[in-house]
Amino acid sequence: MAIARFWRETPRRYNLGGSRCTNCRTVYFPPRSVCPTCSKHRQSIGKLEPFQLSGEGEVVSYSVVHDAAEGFEMQVPYVVALVRTREGPTLTGQVVDIDPHTVQIGLKVRATFRKLREDGRAGVIHYGYKFAPAEDAGGPAASRGPRAMAPASPPSEGGAARA
Ligand SMILES: [Zn+2]
Repeated sequence: MAIARFWRETPRRYNLGGSRCTNCRTVYFPPRSVCPTCSKHRQSIGKLEPFQLSGEGEVVSYSVVHDAAEGFEMQVPYVVALVRTREGPTLTGQVVDIDPHTVQIGLKVRATFRKLREDGRAGVIHYGYKFAPAEDAGGPAASRGPRAMAPASPPSEGGAARA
């Protein structure tokens, strides 16, 4: 079955692959194979299709974590937020690239794929999604680029490459 294989081969923690009911258009993440909204009529069986979430959403709840879980010691304090995506599903994730104390409800964010933690002994690095402030969503500064507020950039001015 092609759809099942699609889900297996593209771990959802990498690509935010959910599913959408083609009957009622409800989006689910993690993906479901039966739609609870339609299930009483058994209409949704076979009607869910893979659906790619945009990763855009807004913070609906958050907390600042000061006591890091094992493996997360390097980034205390950090913010874990509940983010309602544009498509509907609510995701939990860390908010990065922002002063933890400036995170607030309603903040527009976008999922970004980052290193989650490193298993020191095995050298295994785990990746997954985190949320970063969305630059083009509602912010007063319309400029593009990751750190638009800081004009200071790498030493690229005047005679850069000097080997
Ligand atoms: Zn449905």
